[in-house]
Amino acid sequence: MAKTATPKTYLWCDVCRRSYGHDDAPDALCPVCATPMREMGRLSAIARGFMANELVASDLRTKHRQLVRLIWTRNGMGERYYKVLAPDLPYNRFEARVTELLMRGAEEGWVRFVLPPAPSSDDAAYRVEFDDDERFVREMEAMFASTAAAEG
Ligand SMILES: [Zn+2]
Repeated sequence: MAKTATPKTYLWCDVCRRSYGHDDAPDALCPVCATPMREMGRLSAIARGFMANELVASDLRTKHRQLVRLIWTRNGMGERYYKVLAPDLPYNRFEARVTELLMRGAEEGWVRFVLPPAPSSDDAAYRVEFDDDERFVREMEAMFASTAAAEG
């Protein structure tokens, strides 16, 4: 019998507007933004990928999001927040939601991402700053209070 090692489907992320192989996302969550993805045939995933590339124009937004995520989670900060808040969702979903929150904060002006003028080996040159620490804490609590309540 012929081997059926290659899956015939891909996973599609509506947020990133791109497809992933099953190997990239064993839990069917997008490896970039942790959104649950839907399965689709290989050809339509490729066709959608091509169309989406034209719409999105570049990976910059995705890379920007990854950078934000790397900055706030470094030195184990992501795990530390996760432990304190103990939200009822897997860690990668938590990371994605806090990343969204920080990006909203940056848009609204109460969060600032500080970057060195050129890529640097000094991790401390990359950091997140808050105009209002209390606000970040409040927003985090509000965001994850609902998941805790839903559980109880
Ligand atoms: Zn995604």
